[in-house]
Amino acid sequence: MRVLFVASELYPLVKTGGLADVCGALPLALAQQRFDVRALIPAYPGVLDGLRAQVTRLRMDPLFGGAVRVVAGLSETGTQVFALDAPHLFARKGNPYVGPDGRDWPDNHLRFGALSWMAREIGLGRLGDWRPDIVHAHDWQAGLAPAYLALSRDRRPATVITIHNIAFQGLFPADTLTPLRLPQSAFTPEGVEYHGKVGFLKAGLHYADQITTVSPTYAREIQTPEFGEGLDGLLRHRARQLTGIVNGIDAGKCNPAADASIAARYTATKPEGKGANKAALQSRLGLQVNAAAPLFCVISRMSAQKGLDLLLANLPTLLAGGGQLAVLGNGDANLETGFRNAMTANPGRIGGVIGYDEPLAHLMQAGADVIVVPSRFEPCGLTQLYGLRYGTLPLVARLGGLADTVIDANEAAMHDGVATGFQFAPVTTEALGNAFTRVFELYARKDAWRQVVHRAMTRKVGWQEPAEKYAALYRSLVPPEAV
Ligand code: ADP
Repeated sequence: MRVLFVASELYPLVKTGGLADVCGALPLALAQQRFDVRALIPAYPGVLDGLRAQVTRLRMDPLFGGAVRVVAGLSETGTQVFALDAPHLFARKGNPYVGPDGRDWPDNHLRFGALSWMAREIGLGRLGDWRPDIVHAHDWQAGLAPAYLALSRDRRPATVITIHNIAFQGLFPADTLTPLRLPQSAFTPEGVEYHGKVGFLKAGLHYADQITTVSPTYAREIQTPEFGEGLDGLLRHRARQLTGIVNGIDAGKCNPAADASIAARYTATKPEGKGANKAALQSRLGLQVNAAAPLFCVISRMSAQKGLDLLLANLPTLLAGGGQLAVLGNGDANLETGFRNAMTANPGRIGGVIGYDEPLAHLMQAGADVIVVPSRFEPCGLTQLYGLRYGTLPLVARLGGLADTVIDANEAAMHDGVATGFQFAPVTTEALGNAFTRVFELYARKDAWRQVVHRAMTRKVGWQEPAEKYAALYRSLVPPEAV
């Protein structure tokens, strides 16, 4: 079966967030299930440089203001890519979404409208020998693809849209309708309109045959006003077509048995090397080198979403219990200042780096005992999955993908030997404080702790299981005998 991914990012060609990881890795995992997946992405600067075995497959002149072509090739990691080479839309330095003035590019509707239009063309068979059975759009940037296909009169492929973060919706003024080649008749609440604007994500959610998001709990949450960002009504209406599939991580790249960025390699059955990583992390960050102190870490964007203010408020509890904290992150200025001040006020107990540092993130995952993820919302979350893989027990808010990937070390889970971390709810300072107390209690029971670490490290967090779920969804839309 042939599937066309449509997305604005794909690792390793272009990445600003987790969407790129999914679009880079999931096609490869689906290839193991004998799906032929290719990903259509914009040819931002550098994308064509990173593509091997390039072949120009299609030219169109003009598309939304200029000549374009589709270049087929292979990414460094082996993903099959169609790059939309449209210099008038994408040949700009900097961020895929934001110009040098810090504002969204003023023609983002045309840039991502063109991406979706090209998905329509490929979906309708314009490449000739490669016609997809399914077009799978990711996030708002690809939201018009299911709309364009549903609005065309030709025989069309089935369509899926995945919500990676519902907070970003791609809303544009009503007068973009005609430049986007959308008919006036589609400008209704039963079409692309969202409160008087053209809504890209809204359009995708309305027109796609199936909707997915990146965890079952988030799939339920976004049907409520608290998490739905205004789209909860539409999602309740489409609840039968909405499913949640948790993301995987690259189990090859993130492997404590082979990670070159950490101080000592270790495995679930031979976890001793974790101690050497703890000592290395403590000395790297100027913390007291002390094997007995429970070492917490946080690796995160610093934004209101991530709930790090709750962690700041709980530092007295963490320190009173004999804990240490390693911090890695940047973002919101107030949070950065809060953590900087905490480091200065507690030398040897709280240390870290305000910035982005991937090798240090690996050492922290390997060296810490606990990774704290107190998010206010979290579609899937990746850091808790890395925590499981490296035997660093996740302490997470019980919501979104965090609720679906971590089993709380409560009495029943300990008895049954299935616990992998700690959950707390509601997302309040007090509840997080209580969770710290539970961590200290378990940490004091060395054998019980080791058991939970072993269970965490052996939990499957790769892409195989998610890929099987996407495969089943595709087969439900296009039975293999129909292909
Ligand atoms: P989000 O995409 O909302 O930021 P995720 O948990 O899904 O959160 O993914 C965040 C990714 O970015 C993880 O791989 C995490 O390790 C990484 N990361 C976040 N902040 C930093 C940082 N300061 N340095 C290195 N890696 C970071």
